[in-house]
Amino acid sequence: MFDKFRDECGVFGIFGHPESANLTYLGLYALQHRGQESAGIAAADGTRIRTSRAMGYVNDAFSSDTLAGLTGHLAVGHVRYSTAGESRLANAQPIVIDSAHGQLALGHNGNLINAGEVHDALVREGAIFQTSTDSEIVVHLFARSKADNVESAIVEAIGQVRGAYSFVLMTKDRIIGVRDPHGFRPLALGRLGDAWVICSETCAMDLIGATYVRDVEPGEMVVASATGLRSVKPFPPAKHSQCIFEHVYFSRPDSYVFGESVNEVRTEFGRRLARESGVPADVVVPIPDSGVCAAVGFAEQSGIPMRMGLIRNHYVGRTFIQPQQSIRHFGVRVKLNPVKSILNGKRVVLVDDSIVRGTTSRKIVRMVRSAGAREVHMRISCPPTISPCFYGVDTPRRSELIAATHTLDEIRRYLNADSVAYLSLDGLTESVPSGKSRYCTSCYTGVYPVAFPRDEAAYLQLALKLNPEPAPPSTPQPVTMDGFDGDESGSALSSLAGVGSSRDGRRTD
Ligand code: SF4
Repeated sequence: MFDKFRDECGVFGIFGHPESANLTYLGLYALQHRGQESAGIAAADGTRIRTSRAMGYVNDAFSSDTLAGLTGHLAVGHVRYSTAGESRLANAQPIVIDSAHGQLALGHNGNLINAGEVHDALVREGAIFQTSTDSEIVVHLFARSKADNVESAIVEAIGQVRGAYSFVLMTKDRIIGVRDPHGFRPLALGRLGDAWVICSETCAMDLIGATYVRDVEPGEMVVASATGLRSVKPFPPAKHSQCIFEHVYFSRPDSYVFGESVNEVRTEFGRRLARESGVPADVVVPIPDSGVCAAVGFAEQSGIPMRMGLIRNHYVGRTFIQPQQSIRHFGVRVKLNPVKSILNGKRVVLVDDSIVRGTTSRKIVRMVRSAGAREVHMRISCPPTISPCFYGVDTPRRSELIAATHTLDEIRRYLNADSVAYLSLDGLTESVPSGKSRYCTSCYTGVYPVAFPRDEAAYLQLALKLNPEPAPPSTPQPVTMDGFDGDESGSALSSLAGVGSSRDGRRTD
């Protein structure tokens, strides 16, 4: 709906509770912001796994009858947004297979960067894939493992993939959480009475009354079974590269992610932004909802009052019917409406978490001006986003990222703002208490912590997301104000940059 990087997926698992499927359903509700295309739950009773998956929101995917059929004291669940693979039911998770090691259910948050080569090797050996997701290669590797027990087979399978993964897995009698050695995506561990909970964000624990214990550590595998919780670290250690964008935008502000309060980190981004790029103004206005925490920090640091000068309509769902072109001029107004009494005649600091293509930001600046604002100063609580993500986040190609192809002044002119400023990279990393060395910042630097296989260019996201022939640095793309209408597909900016296309999945077979 907005011009943002798109959330990846959310995972949830619980062991040792008679209402495991119902609690997983609630957990997925809390994680809905991480994926809205499909949802699934697999539950087990010690003898077999039952599963239900459907397209759409959690609310639509399950009925009380469905949940009643998912019996047992352990369950795993997944909400999906397709970072790799098409949006169709076959790609919904948890994936459930039957193998020589018994049944296995798997839910994945992340992106496996060597999925292409592993997939092709498996196909050459006769594997038949049922989905177009990177996650399926793990269950194939598991099924082919000659290891003499389930957990060793899981370790052997996961040991062959590289990239970003936070997995929840379930056999008929245990749940398993695994986080990649870099720790790209979050995975938290908690307790509900005697039950163990593993999930992407702690907001899912809050909803069911569970208590956050700690994170599953990078490279750690935790196993919850009738004998209690066990932890092993079976993978070679690697430099930690936790996704800092979880703090910038993805995670809910009421969650603890990577051991930190998202709300506190995000508010500190705003304070730091005000120290770095303060501007005389009358009012600080967040772009809801993602800009609210940073705007609170900006207002606190600058002493400029914060007011809700833009009101978001929370009931614009994915079923919103785009009207005909002739009446599309209302554009972003269906989602945001300005409050004239707050904006009229004022010098406004607009605070948002990020700018991707710039298309929505431009419309919002126009809207704020049309409500009477005298000046509009855009402040962004992260650095310029100049490079795509290959670790489980849906991003446009580099050529579609406005900050990758335009100078700061060109961006200001495109947005028609009086000034534009981003948080510095140091400001971003120094605002995270656990230390900048533990975070991935690749989308701001273009430096990637996990190398790509050289022979993957034909089908990897690398080939899909990066410009095949980068424009010469001496010929910056022109910025014009043409092509602006109610369309948020990025076409306006694409026409500026001379580049088309939209998001791409890794594999679309
Ligand atoms: S590239 Fe950006 S979005 Fe992707 S994992 Fe790194 S910080 Fe997160």
